[in-house]
Amino acid sequence: MENYQRNANGEIRTCIRCGKIFQYYGLGRCYCPACKKQDDEAFNKVKAYIYEHGTATVMEVSEKTGVPVRYIRLYLKDSRIEIPENSPIFIQCERCGVNIRSGRLCPNCASELTNEMRLEMDFNNEQIGEIPRKYSCGKMRFLDKNCD
Ligand SMILES: [Zn+2]
Ligand SMILES: [Zn+2]
Repeated sequence: MENYQRNANGEIRTCIRCGKIFQYYGLGRCYCPACKKQDDEAFNKVKAYIYEHGTATVMEVSEKTGVPVRYIRLYLKDSRIEIPENSPIFIQCERCGVNIRSGRLCPNCASELTNEMRLEMDFNNEQIGEIPRKYSCGKMRFLDKNCD
């Protein structure tokens, strides 16, 4: 069903948001130009809100900006937005579950993976998130299982 065709200008891909066929140049997520524009607008709203209200939760940001939670999480995973210090919003390292402020992996897992799977999994620095310095366990219930 998916139809990939290489040519000189890019690849023909299916937009992961609306399903339209378009020419993809290998930058960012696989969105067609219309979805890319919408996505940029949503992204800017989210970014502005988070920087203005540093301690908002993802749910709150979603309600106030009208941007679905799943997109906000994508922005975090893509490291397009970073969670401010002292914010209760976090995402978790995909490998060990520790809190990180952006990306997919904590620095520890990233360095452990460097020799094994990094090339294969194609991690780059943008996918490695900082662990928040002022994190305290009691604050976030969904992380209780990771507290010693
Ligand atoms: Zn689209
Ligand atoms: Zn980790």
